[in-house]
Amino acid sequence: KEDKLKDVISHAKEYGYVFPSSEIYDGLAAAYDYGQLGAELKNNIKQYWWKSMVQLHENIVGIDASIFMHPTTWKASGHVDAFNDPLIDNKDSKKRYRADVLIEEHIEKYVQKNNKEIEKAKKKFGDAFDEVQFVATNPNVVRNTAKIREIEDRMRETLENNDLEGVYNLIMDLEIVCPISGTKNWTEVRQFNLMFSTELGSVAGDASKIYLRPETAQGIFVNFLNVQKSGRMKVPFGIAQIGKAFRNEIIARQFIFRMREFEQMEMQFFVRPGEELKWYEYWKETRRKWHLALGLGAEKYRFHDHIKLAHYANAAADIEFDFPMGFKELEGIHSRTDFDLKQHEQFSGKKLQYFDPELNQNYIPYVVETSVGLDRLFLAVLSASLKNEVLEDGSERVVLSLPPALAPYKVAVMPLTKKDGLPEKAQEIFNSLRMDFSCQYDEKDSPGKRYRRQDAIGTPYSIMVDHQTLEDNTVTIRDRDTMLQERVAIADLHRVIDQKVNF
Ligand code: ATP
Repeated sequence: KEDKLKDVISHAKEYGYVFPSSEIYDGLAAAYDYGQLGAELKNNIKQYWWKSMVQLHENIVGIDASIFMHPTTWKASGHVDAFNDPLIDNKDSKKRYRADVLIEEHIEKYVQKNNKEIEKAKKKFGDAFDEVQFVATNPNVVRNTAKIREIEDRMRETLENNDLEGVYNLIMDLEIVCPISGTKNWTEVRQFNLMFSTELGSVAGDASKIYLRPETAQGIFVNFLNVQKSGRMKVPFGIAQIGKAFRNEIIARQFIFRMREFEQMEMQFFVRPGEELKWYEYWKETRRKWHLALGLGAEKYRFHDHIKLAHYANAAADIEFDFPMGFKELEGIHSRTDFDLKQHEQFSGKKLQYFDPELNQNYIPYVVETSVGLDRLFLAVLSASLKNEVLEDGSERVVLSLPPALAPYKVAVMPLTKKDGLPEKAQEIFNSLRMDFSCQYDEKDSPGKRYRRQDAIGTPYSIMVDHQTLEDNTVTIRDRDTMLQERVAIADLHRVIDQKVNF
Protein backbone atom coordinates (compact mmCIF):
# COMPACT_ATOMS: atom_id res chain seq x y z
CA LYS A 1 0.00 0.00 0.00
CA GLU A 2 2.80 2.40 0.88
CA ASP A 3 4.53 1.48 -2.36
CA LYS A 4 1.38 2.34 -4.24
CA LEU A 5 1.44 5.88 -2.85
CA LYS A 6 5.12 6.16 -3.79
CA ASP A 7 4.26 5.01 -7.32
CA VAL A 8 1.53 7.61 -7.60
CA ILE A 9 3.82 10.39 -6.34
CA SER A 10 6.64 9.54 -8.72
CA HIS A 11 4.31 9.04 -11.69
CA ALA A 12 2.67 12.38 -10.94
CA LYS A 13 6.05 14.07 -10.93
CA GLU A 14 7.49 12.29 -13.98
CA TYR A 15 4.56 13.19 -16.22
CA GLY A 16 3.88 16.74 -15.07
CA TYR A 17 0.87 16.17 -12.87
CA VAL A 18 2.15 17.26 -9.44
CA PHE A 19 5.50 18.69 -8.32
CA PRO A 20 6.67 19.41 -4.78
CA SER A 21 6.39 23.16 -4.21
CA SER A 22 9.59 25.20 -4.56
CA GLU A 23 11.52 22.01 -5.17
CA ILE A 24 14.82 23.70 -6.03
CA TYR A 25 14.84 24.87 -2.39
CA ASP A 26 14.11 21.32 -1.23
CA GLY A 27 10.38 21.90 -1.19
CA LEU A 28 7.97 23.15 1.43
CA ALA A 29 6.16 20.60 3.59
CA ALA A 30 2.58 19.92 2.51
CA ALA A 31 2.64 22.36 -0.40
CA TYR A 32 2.45 21.09 -3.96
CA ASP A 33 2.31 22.57 -7.45
CA TYR A 34 0.10 21.21 -10.17
CA GLY A 35 2.07 20.83 -13.39
CA GLN A 36 0.99 21.15 -17.01
CA LEU A 37 -1.16 18.01 -16.98
CA GLY A 38 -2.21 18.34 -13.35
CA ALA A 39 -3.67 21.79 -14.00
CA GLU A 40 -5.73 20.34 -16.87
CA LEU A 41 -6.99 17.39 -14.83
CA LYS A 42 -7.84 19.65 -11.92
CA ASN A 43 -9.75 22.05 -14.18
CA ASN A 44 -11.67 19.17 -15.69
CA ILE A 45 -12.65 17.87 -12.25
CA LYS A 46 -13.85 21.35 -11.29
CA GLN A 47 -15.89 21.64 -14.47
CA TYR A 48 -17.44 18.23 -13.98
CA TRP A 49 -18.49 19.23 -10.46
CA TRP A 50 -19.68 22.71 -11.42
CA LYS A 51 -21.65 21.41 -14.37
CA SER A 52 -23.54 18.81 -12.38
CA MET A 53 -24.07 20.95 -9.27
CA VAL A 54 -24.75 24.38 -10.79
CA GLN A 55 -25.62 24.01 -14.45
CA LEU A 56 -27.82 20.95 -14.09
CA HIS A 57 -29.66 22.15 -10.98
CA GLU A 58 -32.05 24.97 -11.77
CA ASN A 59 -32.06 26.11 -8.15
CA ILE A 60 -28.32 26.14 -7.46
CA VAL A 61 -26.10 29.09 -8.35
CA GLY A 62 -22.37 29.56 -7.93
CA ILE A 63 -20.31 32.35 -6.39
CA ASP A 64 -16.66 33.19 -5.93
CA ALA A 65 -16.12 34.86 -2.55
CA SER A 66 -12.84 36.33 -1.36
CA ILE A 67 -10.36 34.43 0.77
CA PHE A 68 -10.04 37.27 3.27
CA MET A 69 -13.17 37.96 5.26
CA HIS A 70 -14.07 40.27 8.10
CA PRO A 71 -12.43 38.73 11.19
CA THR A 72 -15.74 38.61 13.07
CA THR A 73 -16.85 35.98 10.55
CA TRP A 74 -14.56 33.49 12.26
CA LYS A 75 -15.69 34.47 15.73
CA ALA A 76 -19.28 33.84 14.66
CA SER A 77 -18.52 30.54 12.93
CA GLY A 78 -16.71 29.23 16.00
CA HIS A 79 -13.34 28.85 14.28
CA VAL A 80 -11.46 31.34 16.50
CA ASP A 81 -12.45 29.49 19.66
CA ALA A 82 -12.85 25.91 18.54
CA PHE A 83 -11.00 25.10 15.32
CA ASN A 84 -8.21 23.36 17.17
CA ASP A 85 -6.24 20.15 17.14
CA PRO A 86 -4.47 18.81 20.25
CA LEU A 87 -0.72 19.03 19.88
CA ILE A 88 2.20 17.38 21.68
CA ASP A 89 5.95 17.68 21.11
CA ASN A 90 8.65 15.16 21.83
CA LYS A 91 11.51 17.20 23.29
CA ASP A 92 14.23 14.68 22.37
CA SER A 93 13.34 13.92 18.77
CA LYS A 94 11.91 17.44 18.25
CA LYS A 95 9.04 15.71 16.53
CA ARG A 96 5.58 17.23 16.71
CA TYR A 97 2.49 15.04 16.87
CA ARG A 98 -1.24 15.54 16.68
CA ALA A 99 -2.16 13.91 19.99
CA ASP A 100 -5.21 12.07 18.66
CA VAL A 101 -3.26 10.75 15.68
CA LEU A 102 -0.46 9.57 17.97
CA ILE A 103 -2.99 7.62 20.03
CA GLU A 104 -4.44 6.15 16.86
CA GLU A 105 -0.96 5.00 15.88
CA HIS A 106 -0.70 3.18 19.22
CA ILE A 107 -4.06 1.56 18.60
CA GLU A 108 -2.88 0.50 15.16
CA LYS A 109 0.13 -1.16 16.83
CA TYR A 110 -2.13 -3.16 19.09
CA VAL A 111 -4.31 -4.19 16.18
CA GLN A 112 -1.21 -5.39 14.35
CA LYS A 113 -0.14 -7.42 17.39
CA ASN A 114 -3.50 -9.17 17.28
CA ASN A 115 -3.39 -9.71 13.58
CA LYS A 116 0.00 -11.37 13.87
CA GLU A 117 -1.35 -13.89 16.40
CA ILE A 118 -4.34 -14.57 14.18
CA GLU A 119 -2.17 -15.05 11.08
CA LYS A 120 0.08 -17.47 12.99
CA ALA A 121 -2.91 -19.50 14.12
CA LYS A 122 -4.41 -19.49 10.64
CA LYS A 123 -1.23 -21.03 9.25
CA LYS A 124 -1.05 -23.59 12.03
CA PHE A 125 -4.64 -24.79 11.94
CA GLY A 126 -5.41 -24.28 8.25
CA ASP A 127 -8.99 -25.07 7.20
CA ALA A 128 -9.94 -26.08 10.72
CA PHE A 129 -9.26 -22.55 11.99
CA ASP A 130 -12.23 -20.70 13.47
CA GLU A 131 -11.26 -17.04 13.84
CA VAL A 132 -14.18 -15.99 16.06
CA GLN A 133 -13.46 -18.85 18.44
CA PHE A 134 -9.76 -18.05 18.47
CA VAL A 135 -10.26 -14.34 19.15
CA ALA A 136 -12.67 -15.13 21.98
CA THR A 137 -10.47 -17.64 23.75
CA ASN A 138 -6.83 -16.83 23.11
CA PRO A 139 -5.58 -14.97 26.23
CA ASN A 140 -3.14 -12.68 24.33
CA VAL A 141 -5.75 -11.65 21.82
CA VAL A 142 -8.42 -11.20 24.46
CA ARG A 143 -6.07 -9.02 26.48
CA ASN A 144 -5.11 -6.92 23.46
CA THR A 145 -8.71 -6.53 22.34
CA ALA A 146 -9.76 -5.37 25.79
CA LYS A 147 -6.80 -2.99 25.86
CA ILE A 148 -7.74 -1.52 22.47
CA ARG A 149 -11.28 -0.92 23.65
CA GLU A 150 -10.02 0.73 26.80
CA ILE A 151 -7.69 3.04 24.85
CA GLU A 152 -10.44 3.96 22.43
CA ASP A 153 -12.82 4.78 25.27
CA ARG A 154 -10.25 6.90 27.06
CA MET A 155 -9.36 8.66 23.83
CA ARG A 156 -12.98 9.51 23.05
CA GLU A 157 -13.73 10.66 26.57
CA THR A 158 -10.69 12.87 26.98
CA LEU A 159 -10.96 14.45 23.54
CA GLU A 160 -14.67 15.09 23.79
CA ASN A 161 -14.25 16.71 27.19
CA ASN A 162 -11.26 18.72 26.08
CA ASP A 163 -9.39 17.08 28.91
CA LEU A 164 -5.86 17.80 27.70
CA GLU A 165 -4.26 16.41 30.85
CA GLY A 166 -6.19 13.20 30.33
CA VAL A 167 -4.94 13.00 26.74
CA TYR A 168 -1.39 13.54 28.01
CA ASN A 169 -1.75 10.79 30.63
CA LEU A 170 -3.09 8.39 28.05
CA ILE A 171 -0.13 9.02 25.74
CA MET A 172 2.33 8.50 28.64
CA ASP A 173 0.67 5.19 29.55
CA LEU A 174 0.78 4.05 25.95
CA GLU A 175 4.41 5.05 25.54
CA ILE A 176 5.25 2.69 28.41
CA VAL A 177 3.26 -0.34 27.23
CA CYS A 178 3.95 0.02 23.53
CA PRO A 179 6.37 2.83 22.76
CA ILE A 180 6.41 4.65 19.46
CA SER A 181 8.98 7.33 20.11
CA GLY A 182 11.26 5.46 22.53
CA THR A 183 11.69 8.49 24.79
CA LYS A 184 9.79 9.91 27.73
CA ASN A 185 10.52 13.59 27.34
CA TRP A 186 7.30 15.20 26.21
CA THR A 187 5.70 18.63 26.42
CA GLU A 188 2.18 18.99 27.75
CA VAL A 189 -0.73 18.63 25.32
CA ARG A 190 -2.07 21.96 24.10
CA GLN A 191 -4.68 23.19 21.69
CA PHE A 192 -3.39 24.43 18.39
CA ASN A 193 -5.60 26.67 16.24
CA LEU A 194 -5.51 25.65 12.60
CA MET A 195 -6.22 29.06 11.12
CA PHE A 196 -3.46 31.02 9.41
CA SER A 197 -3.49 34.67 10.36
CA THR A 198 -1.87 37.72 8.85
CA GLU A 199 -2.10 41.48 9.17
CA LEU A 200 -4.26 43.79 7.17
CA GLY A 201 -2.50 46.80 5.64
CA SER A 202 -0.05 48.76 7.77
CA VAL A 203 -2.00 48.87 11.02
CA ALA A 204 -0.29 46.88 13.73
CA GLY A 205 -1.82 44.96 16.61
CA ASP A 206 -4.77 42.74 17.16
CA ALA A 207 -7.27 45.08 15.48
CA SER A 208 -5.80 44.37 12.07
CA LYS A 209 -5.46 40.60 12.46
CA ILE A 210 -7.22 38.70 9.69
CA TYR A 211 -7.35 35.06 8.69
CA LEU A 212 -6.98 33.02 5.55
CA ARG A 213 -10.31 31.21 5.32
CA PRO A 214 -10.13 27.61 6.62
CA GLU A 215 -13.26 26.68 4.64
CA THR A 216 -15.16 28.23 1.76
CA ALA A 217 -18.57 27.76 3.40
CA GLN A 218 -18.57 31.00 5.38
CA GLY A 219 -18.25 33.06 2.20
CA ILE A 220 -21.53 31.48 1.16
CA PHE A 221 -23.32 32.09 4.48
CA VAL A 222 -22.45 35.78 4.65
CA ASN A 223 -23.73 36.19 1.08
CA PHE A 224 -26.90 34.22 1.64
CA LEU A 225 -29.25 37.21 1.43
CA ASN A 226 -27.31 38.95 -1.36
CA VAL A 227 -27.70 35.91 -3.57
CA GLN A 228 -31.26 35.13 -2.52
CA LYS A 229 -32.45 38.66 -3.21
CA SER A 230 -30.46 39.48 -6.34
CA GLY A 231 -31.14 36.04 -7.83
CA ARG A 232 -34.78 35.95 -6.64
CA MET A 233 -34.07 32.47 -5.24
CA LYS A 234 -36.78 30.45 -3.57
CA VAL A 235 -36.12 27.99 -0.76
CA PRO A 236 -35.03 25.25 -1.30
CA PHE A 237 -32.02 26.57 -3.19
CA GLY A 238 -28.28 26.14 -3.15
CA ILE A 239 -25.12 28.23 -3.42
CA ALA A 240 -21.99 26.52 -4.70
CA GLN A 241 -18.38 27.59 -4.62
CA ILE A 242 -14.96 26.31 -5.58
CA GLY A 243 -11.99 27.91 -3.90
CA LYS A 244 -8.86 27.74 -1.81
CA ALA A 245 -8.89 27.08 1.90
CA PHE A 246 -5.98 27.14 4.33
CA ARG A 247 -5.33 25.11 7.44
CA ASN A 248 -2.15 25.01 9.44
CA GLU A 249 -2.29 21.20 9.74
CA ILE A 250 0.01 19.86 12.47
CA ILE A 251 1.02 16.83 10.51
CA ALA A 252 0.87 17.28 6.81
CA ARG A 253 1.84 14.16 4.96
CA GLN A 254 0.37 11.67 2.53
CA PHE A 255 1.01 13.82 -0.52
CA ILE A 256 -1.91 15.98 -1.64
CA PHE A 257 -4.32 14.26 0.76
CA ARG A 258 -3.56 16.68 3.57
CA MET A 259 -2.18 20.02 2.56
CA ARG A 260 -1.93 23.40 4.25
CA GLU A 261 -3.29 25.13 1.16
CA PHE A 262 -5.99 23.24 -0.69
CA GLU A 263 -9.17 23.65 -2.65
CA GLN A 264 -12.72 22.83 -1.65
CA MET A 265 -15.83 22.42 -3.74
CA GLU A 266 -18.72 23.20 -1.45
CA MET A 267 -22.43 23.65 -1.83
CA GLN A 268 -24.79 24.94 0.85
CA PHE A 269 -28.42 24.04 0.31
CA PHE A 270 -30.96 26.23 2.13
CA VAL A 271 -34.19 24.49 3.14
CA ARG A 272 -37.28 24.94 5.28
CA PRO A 273 -36.71 24.16 8.97
CA GLY A 274 -37.85 20.61 9.59
CA GLU A 275 -37.11 19.47 6.03
CA GLU A 276 -33.36 19.29 6.49
CA LEU A 277 -33.10 15.57 7.12
CA LYS A 278 -35.07 14.78 3.98
CA TRP A 279 -32.65 16.95 1.96
CA TYR A 280 -29.70 15.48 3.81
CA GLU A 281 -30.73 12.03 2.56
CA TYR A 282 -31.29 13.47 -0.93
CA TRP A 283 -27.79 14.95 -1.07
CA LYS A 284 -26.14 11.84 0.34
CA GLU A 285 -27.68 9.82 -2.47
CA THR A 286 -27.04 12.45 -5.16
CA ARG A 287 -23.40 12.77 -4.22
CA ARG A 288 -23.00 8.99 -4.05
CA LYS A 289 -24.28 8.66 -7.60
CA TRP A 290 -22.06 11.51 -8.75
CA HIS A 291 -18.97 9.71 -7.48
CA LEU A 292 -20.02 6.38 -8.94
CA ALA A 293 -20.59 8.00 -12.35
CA LEU A 294 -16.85 8.70 -12.49
CA GLY A 295 -16.39 4.97 -13.02
CA LEU A 296 -13.53 4.40 -10.58
CA GLY A 297 -15.36 1.37 -9.13
CA ALA A 298 -18.13 1.13 -6.53
CA GLU A 299 -15.91 -0.94 -4.24
CA LYS A 300 -13.65 2.10 -3.82
CA TYR A 301 -16.30 4.01 -1.85
CA ARG A 302 -17.72 3.65 1.61
CA PHE A 303 -20.13 5.75 3.67
CA HIS A 304 -19.31 6.55 7.23
CA ASP A 305 -22.11 8.00 9.32
CA HIS A 306 -20.89 10.18 12.16
CA ILE A 307 -21.96 9.29 15.63
CA LYS A 308 -20.17 12.13 17.30
CA LEU A 309 -21.48 15.31 15.66
CA ALA A 310 -19.84 18.71 15.37
CA HIS A 311 -21.49 21.47 17.42
CA TYR A 312 -23.34 22.82 14.37
CA ALA A 313 -24.68 19.55 12.91
CA ASN A 314 -27.69 17.30 13.47
CA ALA A 315 -26.56 14.65 10.97
CA ALA A 316 -23.28 14.05 9.16
CA ALA A 317 -21.66 11.47 6.93
CA ASP A 318 -18.35 11.08 5.13
CA ILE A 319 -17.90 9.55 1.75
CA GLU A 320 -14.68 7.64 2.15
CA PHE A 321 -12.44 6.54 -0.68
CA ASP A 322 -9.98 3.67 -0.84
CA PHE A 323 -6.82 5.78 -1.21
CA PRO A 324 -3.38 4.11 -1.42
CA MET A 325 -3.21 4.69 2.39
CA GLY A 326 -6.56 2.97 2.94
CA PHE A 327 -10.14 4.25 3.28
CA LYS A 328 -10.15 7.95 4.17
CA GLU A 329 -12.51 10.92 4.00
CA LEU A 330 -13.06 12.36 0.55
CA GLU A 331 -16.27 14.32 1.02
CA GLY A 332 -18.37 15.44 3.95
CA ILE A 333 -22.15 15.83 3.89
CA HIS A 334 -23.51 17.73 6.84
CA SER A 335 -26.88 18.86 8.03
CA ARG A 336 -25.68 22.13 9.60
CA THR A 337 -29.06 23.25 10.96
CA ASP A 338 -29.52 27.04 11.20
CA PHE A 339 -26.35 27.34 13.28
CA ASP A 340 -24.24 29.43 10.89
CA LEU A 341 -26.92 31.88 9.75
CA LYS A 342 -28.10 32.34 13.32
CA GLN A 343 -24.57 33.05 14.52
CA HIS A 344 -24.00 35.57 11.75
CA GLU A 345 -27.30 37.22 12.55
CA GLN A 346 -26.25 37.56 16.14
CA PHE A 347 -22.71 38.78 15.50
CA SER A 348 -23.57 41.17 12.67
CA GLY A 349 -26.83 42.47 14.04
CA LYS A 350 -28.34 42.05 10.54
CA LYS A 351 -31.42 39.93 9.87
CA LEU A 352 -30.63 36.88 7.77
CA GLN A 353 -34.17 35.64 7.32
CA TYR A 354 -36.09 34.43 4.35
CA PHE A 355 -39.70 35.27 3.67
CA ASP A 356 -41.42 32.13 2.44
CA PRO A 357 -44.32 33.27 0.23
CA GLU A 358 -46.00 29.85 0.35
CA LEU A 359 -45.98 29.66 4.14
CA ASN A 360 -46.39 33.42 4.45
CA GLN A 361 -43.73 33.34 7.14
CA ASN A 362 -40.19 34.51 7.92
CA TYR A 363 -37.52 32.07 9.06
CA ILE A 364 -33.81 31.34 9.09
CA PRO A 365 -33.35 28.46 6.64
CA TYR A 366 -31.68 25.22 7.63
CA VAL A 367 -28.60 24.18 5.68
CA VAL A 368 -27.39 20.93 4.16
CA GLU A 369 -23.79 21.07 3.01
CA THR A 370 -21.79 18.95 0.60
CA SER A 371 -18.06 19.56 0.84
CA VAL A 372 -15.47 17.74 -1.20
CA GLY A 373 -11.72 18.36 -1.35
CA LEU A 374 -10.63 19.00 -4.91
CA ASP A 375 -7.11 17.80 -4.24
CA ARG A 376 -8.37 14.66 -2.53
CA LEU A 377 -10.62 13.98 -5.49
CA PHE A 378 -7.61 14.51 -7.75
CA LEU A 379 -5.65 11.98 -5.69
CA ALA A 380 -8.57 9.54 -5.79
CA VAL A 381 -8.84 9.77 -9.56
CA LEU A 382 -5.09 9.56 -10.09
CA SER A 383 -4.44 6.65 -7.73
CA ALA A 384 -7.41 4.57 -8.88
CA SER A 385 -6.42 5.11 -12.51
CA LEU A 386 -2.73 4.24 -12.25
CA LYS A 387 -2.18 0.62 -13.23
CA ASN A 388 0.73 -1.64 -14.00
CA GLU A 389 -0.51 -4.15 -16.55
CA VAL A 390 1.10 -7.34 -17.74
CA LEU A 391 0.14 -7.85 -21.38
CA GLU A 392 -0.55 -11.14 -23.14
CA ASP A 393 2.96 -11.27 -24.63
CA GLY A 394 4.40 -10.92 -21.11
CA SER A 395 5.50 -7.32 -21.55
CA GLU A 396 4.39 -4.66 -19.11
CA ARG A 397 2.79 -1.29 -19.54
CA VAL A 398 1.93 1.57 -17.21
CA VAL A 399 -1.49 2.97 -17.98
CA LEU A 400 -3.40 5.83 -16.43
CA SER A 401 -6.98 4.90 -17.19
CA LEU A 402 -8.48 8.28 -16.30
CA PRO A 403 -12.20 8.77 -16.96
CA PRO A 404 -12.07 10.14 -20.55
CA ALA A 405 -14.04 13.26 -19.66
CA LEU A 406 -11.38 14.17 -17.08
CA ALA A 407 -8.26 13.29 -19.08
CA PRO A 408 -5.96 16.29 -19.86
CA TYR A 409 -5.75 15.27 -23.51
CA LYS A 410 -8.68 13.49 -25.10
CA VAL A 411 -6.82 12.62 -28.28
CA ALA A 412 -3.27 12.31 -29.54
CA VAL A 413 -2.83 12.68 -33.29
CA MET A 414 0.20 10.91 -34.76
CA PRO A 415 1.67 10.36 -38.20
CA LEU A 416 3.02 6.82 -38.63
CA THR A 417 6.28 8.19 -40.04
CA LYS A 418 7.79 11.63 -40.48
CA LYS A 419 7.72 11.45 -44.28
CA ASP A 420 5.46 10.89 -47.35
CA GLY A 421 3.22 13.80 -46.38
CA LEU A 422 1.89 11.97 -43.27
CA PRO A 423 2.87 14.73 -40.79
CA GLU A 424 1.05 17.32 -42.92
CA LYS A 425 -2.07 15.20 -43.03
CA ALA A 426 -1.87 14.56 -39.28
CA GLN A 427 -1.44 18.30 -38.60
CA GLU A 428 -4.52 18.96 -40.69
CA ILE A 429 -6.58 16.53 -38.60
CA PHE A 430 -5.08 17.90 -35.39
CA ASN A 431 -6.11 21.43 -36.38
CA SER A 432 -9.64 20.32 -37.23
CA LEU A 433 -10.11 18.74 -33.76
CA ARG A 434 -8.28 21.09 -31.40
CA MET A 435 -11.03 23.70 -31.17
CA ASP A 436 -13.38 21.16 -29.67
CA PHE A 437 -11.12 18.67 -27.92
CA SER A 438 -7.94 19.02 -25.97
CA CYS A 439 -5.46 17.32 -28.35
CA GLN A 440 -1.78 16.64 -28.57
CA TYR A 441 0.25 16.26 -31.75
CA ASP A 442 2.95 13.61 -31.33
CA GLU A 443 5.44 12.52 -33.99
CA LYS A 444 8.63 11.75 -32.03
CA ASP A 445 9.81 8.13 -31.48
CA SER A 446 8.37 4.85 -32.72
CA PRO A 447 4.57 4.35 -32.73
CA GLY A 448 4.86 1.80 -29.90
CA LYS A 449 6.75 4.29 -27.73
CA ARG A 450 4.26 7.02 -28.50
CA TYR A 451 1.33 4.78 -27.55
CA ARG A 452 3.03 3.95 -24.25
CA ARG A 453 3.64 7.61 -23.55
CA GLN A 454 -0.02 8.43 -24.16
CA ASP A 455 -1.03 5.46 -21.98
CA ALA A 456 1.11 6.83 -19.16
CA ILE A 457 -0.37 10.33 -19.30
CA GLY A 458 -3.88 8.94 -19.65
CA THR A 459 -4.90 10.02 -23.16
CA PRO A 460 -7.93 7.85 -23.93
CA TYR A 461 -7.63 7.87 -27.73
CA SER A 462 -4.76 7.94 -30.22
CA ILE A 463 -5.33 8.64 -33.89
CA MET A 464 -2.74 7.23 -36.28
CA VAL A 465 -2.37 8.66 -39.77
CA ASP A 466 -0.84 6.05 -42.11
CA HIS A 467 -0.39 5.51 -45.84
CA GLN A 468 -3.93 4.22 -46.24
CA THR A 469 -5.13 7.58 -44.90
CA LEU A 470 -3.76 9.24 -48.03
CA GLU A 471 -5.70 6.79 -50.18
CA ASP A 472 -9.12 6.57 -48.52
CA ASN A 473 -9.26 9.34 -45.89
CA THR A 474 -9.55 6.96 -42.93
CA VAL A 475 -7.41 6.74 -39.79
CA THR A 476 -7.11 4.26 -36.94
CA ILE A 477 -8.30 5.15 -33.45
CA ARG A 478 -6.62 3.24 -30.66
CA ASP A 479 -8.44 2.81 -27.36
CA ARG A 480 -6.09 3.32 -24.37
CA ASP A 481 -7.76 0.70 -22.17
CA THR A 482 -8.43 -2.14 -24.64
CA MET A 483 -5.52 -1.21 -26.94
CA LEU A 484 -7.81 -2.16 -29.84
CA GLN A 485 -7.75 -0.11 -33.00
CA GLU A 486 -10.63 0.65 -35.30
CA ARG A 487 -10.63 2.38 -38.69
CA VAL A 488 -12.73 5.47 -38.89
CA ALA A 489 -13.38 7.92 -41.73
CA ILE A 490 -11.85 11.33 -41.04
CA ALA A 491 -15.26 12.84 -41.74
CA ASP A 492 -16.71 10.86 -38.79
CA LEU A 493 -13.87 11.57 -36.33
CA HIS A 494 -15.48 14.50 -34.62
CA ARG A 495 -18.70 12.63 -33.89
CA VAL A 496 -16.94 9.42 -32.80
CA ILE A 497 -14.62 11.22 -30.37
CA ASP A 498 -17.42 13.36 -29.02
CA GLN A 499 -19.39 10.24 -28.12
CA LYS A 500 -16.42 8.69 -26.38
CA VAL A 501 -15.21 11.55 -24.23
CA ASN A 502 -18.41 13.04 -22.91
CA PHE A 503 -20.16 11.80 -19.80
P1 ATP B 1 -9.95 15.62 8.04
O1 ATP B 1 -10.74 14.93 9.12
O2 ATP B 1 -9.37 14.68 7.02
O3 ATP B 1 -8.98 16.64 8.55
P2 ATP B 1 -12.14 17.41 7.92
O4 ATP B 1 -13.22 16.55 8.46
O5 ATP B 1 -11.47 18.42 8.78
O6 ATP B 1 -11.02 16.50 7.21
P3 ATP B 1 -13.90 19.14 6.48
O7 ATP B 1 -13.68 20.29 7.38
O8 ATP B 1 -15.18 18.40 6.52
O9 ATP B 1 -12.66 18.13 6.60
O10 ATP B 1 -13.59 19.65 4.99
C1 ATP B 1 -14.28 19.17 3.85
C2 ATP B 1 -13.36 18.51 2.85
O11 ATP B 1 -12.21 19.31 2.60
C3 ATP B 1 -12.80 17.19 3.32
O12 ATP B 1 -13.71 16.14 3.06
C4 ATP B 1 -11.55 17.07 2.49
O13 ATP B 1 -11.85 16.49 1.22
C5 ATP B 1 -11.10 18.48 2.30
N1 ATP B 1 -9.96 18.79 3.18
C6 ATP B 1 -10.03 19.10 4.49
N2 ATP B 1 -8.79 19.34 4.98
C7 ATP B 1 -7.93 19.15 3.94
C8 ATP B 1 -6.51 19.25 3.80
N3 ATP B 1 -5.72 19.61 4.82
N4 ATP B 1 -5.96 18.99 2.59
C9 ATP B 1 -6.74 18.65 1.54
N5 ATP B 1 -8.07 18.54 1.62
C10 ATP B 1 -8.67 18.80 2.80
